[in-house]
Amino acid sequence: MILLIRCYSCGKVIGSAAEQFQERVKKGEKPKEVLDSLGVSRYCCRRMILAQFDIAEESGRYF
Ligand SMILES: [Zn+2]
Repeated sequence: MILLIRCYSCGKVIGSAAEQFQERVKKGEKPKEVLDSLGVSRYCCRRMILAQFDIAEESGRYF
């Protein structure tokens, strides 16, 4: 799995939040609510996690 450790824009550490995000979204929670509850409030960080999630889903099809 590809894990981005920090937000490129603001430098906030998002590695652990991204991990939880992926787990919880797979369990059926809404991405927006998961990000809110993880305290990822800045749009730059949310974008990072969402982009990473898309990449993981995309590459998962080829393994
Ligand atoms: Zn950020």
